[in-house]
Amino acid sequence: MPSQRVEISDVAVSPDHFIGGRRVTSELTFEVRSPLDWDWKLADVARGDALTADLAVSAAVKAFDGWSSLSAEERARFLHRLADLIDDNIDDLAVVECVDMAMLLESLQKRVIHRGAENLRNYADLAAGHEPRRWSSKGTDNVVQRMPAGPAVIITPWNAPWLLSTWKVAPALAAGNTVILKPAEWAPLSGSLLADLAAEAGFPPGVLNIVQGMGDEVGAALVADQRVRRISFTGSPETARHIGVSAARNIVPFTAELGGKGPFIVFADSDLDAAAKKAAGQYDDSGQVCLAGTRLLVEESVSDEFVGLFDKHTDAHVLGDSRNPSTTISPLIHPDHLARVEGFVDRAREAGETIMRGGDRWRQDGLWYEPTLIRPRHNDAEVVQREIFGPVLTYQTFSTEDEAISLANSTRYGLSGIVYTGSRERAERVGSSVRAGTVWVNTFLVRDLTAPFGGCRMSGIGREGGDYALDFHSDLKTVQISQGSVD
Ligand code: NAD
Repeated sequence: MPSQRVEISDVAVSPDHFIGGRRVTSELTFEVRSPLDWDWKLADVARGDALTADLAVSAAVKAFDGWSSLSAEERARFLHRLADLIDDNIDDLAVVECVDMAMLLESLQKRVIHRGAENLRNYADLAAGHEPRRWSSKGTDNVVQRMPAGPAVIITPWNAPWLLSTWKVAPALAAGNTVILKPAEWAPLSGSLLADLAAEAGFPPGVLNIVQGMGDEVGAALVADQRVRRISFTGSPETARHIGVSAARNIVPFTAELGGKGPFIVFADSDLDAAAKKAAGQYDDSGQVCLAGTRLLVEESVSDEFVGLFDKHTDAHVLGDSRNPSTTISPLIHPDHLARVEGFVDRAREAGETIMRGGDRWRQDGLWYEPTLIRPRHNDAEVVQREIFGPVLTYQTFSTEDEAISLANSTRYGLSGIVYTGSRERAERVGSSVRAGTVWVNTFLVRDLTAPFGGCRMSGIGREGGDYALDFHSDLKTVQISQGSVD
């Protein structure tokens, strides 16, 4: 029996799983609260277990033959219908995502929810436009084709649930795989709305399944299932290790988009005010952004001027309720996460690092943390080397380009980097020397959806984006046809 839908800011949301085209509940539930007001309980959400995982994978297996044998154009029509429904429901999706994980409402309404629709359109068209690669060699005609791989498990984190779920679901479906999506337990509700829209778009039962619950319960059961042929994960390196063990056991390819500790390098020849403004923007979403440039590296000769400009732009931030259009910094997702962020700053203070600004909760009765800047005594300080995932940046200076690059590459991560410079030559040079999956020069977060996306070292395995994601979700096959004699 499915549970009653719950009203969340006038939007009816199902707290149940969506498996084989229908709502399925679990005996156990978990509580979801709003970071905007921790006393506000949003829902008791179904807490899946091994049986739920088995049911979902069975549904995805059953649906696979039908879905994978459609042409890419036919599948694209479903994805486009879903994209249109997303655009028709932006306000409902935005408000639920906002109260569930505290991302700014205006940004969700204007950009983020629509980007989900764009993810679907982009992959639908890319897959439909794909031509097999053909060439002749050694007396044979060669054809390289993509074959759908099978059911795919997609596991997403809490910090951008809608964006990342649609980013990962779209290529899997477009490539012809069926999907089981497990959203993060701290922000599971937009995933449930995606299921409603998929049903409305007419997706055949079992093509897109949503399973709710804890990572180490239903999540672990999903990735361990031998019938799953792809695992696409975004989250922490710790979880990636667990998933990697299951993937290895079943010989299943998996991608892992993991954390970051991006450098934000400012050269003296850059537009300092623009650089300082963008640096202060690294506090957006309370710093819960894997791509953020959290280590400010500033050329010594302009350090004082830069800090003055940075302070000016940081002072302009407004902490508050994410539904309020004037708010620029939202609360953190969860009391446990706030305590984690606080722990990093407290330990830095005890270790003798300089707290240049912030360093405390904004209010004792909420989940906000002040925008904080720390000047470490050493590059191996914990706050420099570990991902904090909160509104905490570090500040270091350098004297030469080589020193800047060396500092930039001195952590175990390699997801992103940001560089500000007035020199095109330096932009190319430093851009290619920073070891990261994406480097932005004089800009940030501009993304072409067809470009590869992913991390080096501890920041991940594999690439998503454009054809890279479609190849991941496919088994590439070479057919070689003899041009002449039959052996
Ligand atoms: P997390 O690893 O704790 O959880 C991510 C997801 O994995 C959740 O859905 C969780 O339920 C699930 N999970 C946990 N244990 C599991 C297991 N044993 N088996 C299967 N699934 C399991 O990460 P989080 O705290 O939700 O997210 C924050 C992290 O995500 C940060 O490190 C951040 O940098 C990273 N992140 C990376 C990117 C990127 O694109 N590189 C984007 C966003 C977030």
